[in-house]
Amino acid sequence: MLSTKHYPFVLPDLPYSYNALEPYLDEETLYFHHDKHFKNYIDQLNMALKPYPEYHTWTLNQLLSRLSELPKELQTEVRRQGGGVYNHDLYFATLSPKKQRIPSFIREVFGSEEMWKEQMKTTGMRLFGSGFAWLVIDAKGMLQIISLPNRDNPLSIGLYPLLPLDVWEHAYYLQYQNLRNDYIEQWFSIINWDFITSRLTKQEL
Ligand code: MN
Repeated sequence: MLSTKHYPFVLPDLPYSYNALEPYLDEETLYFHHDKHFKNYIDQLNMALKPYPEYHTWTLNQLLSRLSELPKELQTEVRRQGGGVYNHDLYFATLSPKKQRIPSFIREVFGSEEMWKEQMKTTGMRLFGSGFAWLVIDAKGMLQIISLPNRDNPLSIGLYPLLPLDVWEHAYYLQYQNLRNDYIEQWFSIINWDFITSRLTKQEL
């Protein structure tokens, strides 16, 4: 994952083919999201960090969780572009063409699969404008669902990111147009729970 890498950041390959998530997310949507949007955030982050060699050894985890230690003019760019890089690296890694059962810890914490979905969907739908709904772990080790605006990352507010739901229009507009609700419904079918479970037990910082 790019979270443990440092400058210069390199666009990773999509971990499956561009049409692997059809019909839930189509090839065109995935191609533009990964090869255009995600790549752009990587290019922008590298450009922002280039004049600051003292941060070239900082991992993306460090940059985002220690934002306040960065020079003011770099903070904004790391928050925007670094957040864009982390959030998208994790977004694509937490999707899979392989149908997977929801793990028992989700049912235990949220009551049932349906109650978890409802809370995730409501959080994604209520988010005004661009941003992400997130499943995170808080400082006490508890699971929470939150939303953050734009490309803000949970690490910057002391939370550990487990699963991002990208509700920027670019994530779904080509296939679903304005129907964010339909996109979220379909997204539930392509979540990579095996990966999320391994992330829960091995928090990389
Ligand atoms: Mn996106």
